[in-house]
Amino acid sequence: MRFRTRAIHVGNERDPATGAIVPPIHLAATFVQQQAGEWGEFDYSRSGNPTRKNLERTLASLEDGCGALAFSSGMAATHCVTMMLQPGDHILAGSDIYGGTYRILHKIVQRTGVRVSLAPSHDLTRFEAAIQPNTRLLWIESPGNPLLTITDIAACAAIARRHRIPLAVDSTFATPVLTRPLQLGADIVMHSATKYLGGHSDVLGGALIVRDPQRYDQLYFIQNATGATLSAFDSFLVSRGLKTLELRVLEQSRSAARLAEFLSGDRRVRRVLYPGLKDHPNHAIAATQMQGAFGAMLTFEIEGDFERTRSVVQSTRLFQLAVSLGAVESLIEQPASMSHASYDPADRAAHGIGDTLIRLSVGLEHFEDLRDDLDQALNV
Ligand code: PLP
Repeated sequence: MRFRTRAIHVGNERDPATGAIVPPIHLAATFVQQQAGEWGEFDYSRSGNPTRKNLERTLASLEDGCGALAFSSGMAATHCVTMMLQPGDHILAGSDIYGGTYRILHKIVQRTGVRVSLAPSHDLTRFEAAIQPNTRLLWIESPGNPLLTITDIAACAAIARRHRIPLAVDSTFATPVLTRPLQLGADIVMHSATKYLGGHSDVLGGALIVRDPQRYDQLYFIQNATGATLSAFDSFLVSRGLKTLELRVLEQSRSAARLAEFLSGDRRVRRVLYPGLKDHPNHAIAATQMQGAFGAMLTFEIEGDFERTRSVVQSTRLFQLAVSLGAVESLIEQPASMSHASYDPADRAAHGIGDTLIRLSVGLEHFEDLRDDLDQALNV
């Protein structure tokens, strides 16, 4: 079955008891057993729930993994991966990563005696040079947030294999529609399901998808022991979102590409960061690694300063001023004061997240309405 067909049919089999075309939502917290000490497929919803299981089957199929785990948020999924490590171990992460990932690595994970450092994963020579003898996890994001750098996942996976270190990829921006990191050699794919997978700004969720059963068992054990599972109702919402994932991502990407062209030719804009533009430094890798489109996230720098940038993001009418991304509504934000405010200011500047940067999540509205909205906001 092709991607779109799997998104609709895998994990969404009709209910044999009633014939309902949409599987029922199983809200039960506990499941009655036939005999003491002999467990059926489900016993308690933290350990496993039929509605969550359906979603996990769809996710594993879409990412070509052996299994998936659904979490109560993207951060819970990320946290679960970091809990594989022991005190004294080291995590090497890319420098273009979500601000919340930066925060959990530096403010929570470091407290447990795990060391953390960042290096640009789109520059593989520098990234590999930053590997230490105690590095036990490589963490990358592609496209990166908010600079939309592209990391060559296959080349990074080759480095990870050479050093015998697992590679985890936050693929939230790419979605399995455009990139499948496990096929490229990664060990773990992470998603904030809050974004494109859910797609409608009405559910918070996260996911891990893995290539080998041992890794699945290890992560399942941590998830069950710590408990940040996705609720049955929220699992249903993500499952519903997945059915239109491909259509949404391709159409939203089409508008993003057209907006990138529009902004590139505008005097009020200093530079546009979009992997689909030929002048993007990693365009060639993006063209092979991202299939069919370059994503619906777009970042640009304007002429001016911090205050002028604030005025612009506060002046759009259709683009809503909000963090998050990936839903049908277009959003606008200033990373320096919003999504990446939790960075240490010196680190933020060192990693190129400037005051005049604006990040767009392009939604499903008509392209011309979005273009006109940006045009009027840039006039403030
Ligand atoms: N990864 C990326 C790339 C994100 O953009 C986000 C949230 O914005 C997360 C992870 C965290 O996900 P959540 O907000 O679902 O916890």
